[in-house]
Amino acid sequence: MKKILLFLLMGCMLAACSEKPSGPYVVAHRGYWKTDGSAQNSISSLLNAGRIGAYGSEFDVNLTADGQLVVNHDFTYHGLEIAATDFATLHDPSLTLANGELIPTLDEYFEASLAYPDMKLVYELKSKGEPEYEALALPATVEAINRHGVASRIEFISFSLSACVEFAKLMPDNVVEYLGGEIAPAELHEMGITGIDYEYPVFYEHPEWIEEAHKLGMVVNTWTVNQEEDIRKLLELGVDQITTNEPELAAKLIEEFKAAKKK
Ligand code: MG
Repeated sequence: MKKILLFLLMGCMLAACSEKPSGPYVVAHRGYWKTDGSAQNSISSLLNAGRIGAYGSEFDVNLTADGQLVVNHDFTYHGLEIAATDFATLHDPSLTLANGELIPTLDEYFEASLAYPDMKLVYELKSKGEPEYEALALPATVEAINRHGVASRIEFISFSLSACVEFAKLMPDNVVEYLGGEIAPAELHEMGITGIDYEYPVFYEHPEWIEEAHKLGMVVNTWTVNQEEDIRKLLELGVDQITTNEPELAAKLIEEFKAAKKK
């Protein structure tokens, strides 16, 4: 009898060890950059997100004129339009991020992410919706994802509806979240899109969209939620992911939220 109990106990302990923390989850917006020596969308911000155990690190990707995918939020970098500029020009040593890093290539970013292989990579394709641009950027995205073996870690987000629809076709096993905020989940679901990632005031106006999305098996993410009051409110509303510039605060509030639910 004692042996059986011991066996059962060991089984439970093993299960507890292998179990991943359940959601809601924290996504570090543009990585975790609000720390010494870091910068938005830098390799450092990605590694910081991994170090604090964030569920995911969000980052923004643009395509250069000569076909290089680079990590940067704006369509411009130091005043240069990325889509109209060759990579070598953008990668000039005089042009740096706030922490001194050069603009990261997507390849460098994926390579660095291997240090934290359990962390999701929340990939935002920056696009103005131009078909010629997306016809290049989407296949290049999929090629890079597969070449680095990170497909299982990618959650794709974009303000471009056409990019979301296309990515969902190219990588049907991956979560794809539309960012725009103006379309009801059921309509997106019909297009093959599997998640919504809306600016948080949208959910104050349309709290019913969260349940609607969940009933369709869609993921609900929200951005960019930095204030304690809003984080608490969105957790109560039932979102799955909180995208934030304050990932440590959000993690603490999620733990408190989960503990309160258990009582
Ligand atoms: Mg972004």
